[in-house]
Amino acid sequence: MNLIKSSSPGYKNGNFNPKKMQIKSAEFVVSNTDVDKCPKDRLPEYAFIGRSNVGKSSLINMLMQRKHLAKTSGRPGKTQLINHFIINKNWYLVDLPGYGYARVSKSNKKVFQKFITQYFKNRQQLVLAFVLIDSRLEPQIIDLEFMEWLSENQIPFSIIFTKSDKLKPNALKRNIEAYSIKMLESWEEMPHYFISSSSKGTGRDGLLNYIADVNLQVNDL
Ligand code: GDP
Repeated sequence: MNLIKSSSPGYKNGNFNPKKMQIKSAEFVVSNTDVDKCPKDRLPEYAFIGRSNVGKSSLINMLMQRKHLAKTSGRPGKTQLINHFIINKNWYLVDLPGYGYARVSKSNKKVFQKFITQYFKNRQQLVLAFVLIDSRLEPQIIDLEFMEWLSENQIPFSIIFTKSDKLKPNALKRNIEAYSIKMLESWEEMPHYFISSSSKGTGRDGLLNYIADVNLQVNDL
């Protein structure tokens, strides 16, 4: 079956926000296991998610220019929590735990952890998810299935290819092309994507400006 899917962010990657976003404040607010207990205010929210070790904490710390805002993998005992950070007092960055399959359901369909699916299905303030993919790896089934699941549930997302400094430019280009080819087997178009390196700061302006643009476009949360 050839599924036709689109990440359909519906947000313009416009240039109408002439000034790049400055991070004036970035504060941890709360960790939750339950989506119903997440902050109630109606600020736009951006979720960062990917398999563990993809470089999510490093990316969040790089974007916010804070060394220890998000915890990095070195620390043991990471729990499954929805972590809210308030940025510039006008949007939330949400650090989600790595996804995995919870179980194989009766219909033999793999399902993601309930905790993750509930967040995405119920969180009205969520405007966009950033799905982090390690740029060094071949397309991984779990990542592809997770993006399919987001699409089926009409959750807009963009991809971030992480750790780009670990590859030579040509190898990076080849990997992203291979990724696009794989996705285009079942997607209408390659989802909107960014390339990042937390050690070099690559992708910071593009990501922050994109969030600033989308913030200007969302008013009905
Ligand atoms: P998380 O589990 O997704 O939060 O991943 P971390 O941010 O803790 O990163 C996992 C490992 O990859 C750590 O050893 C990081 O130092 C390393 N890492 C993360 N991002 C980058 C990157 O952009 N470049 C390089 N060279 N290493 C990275």
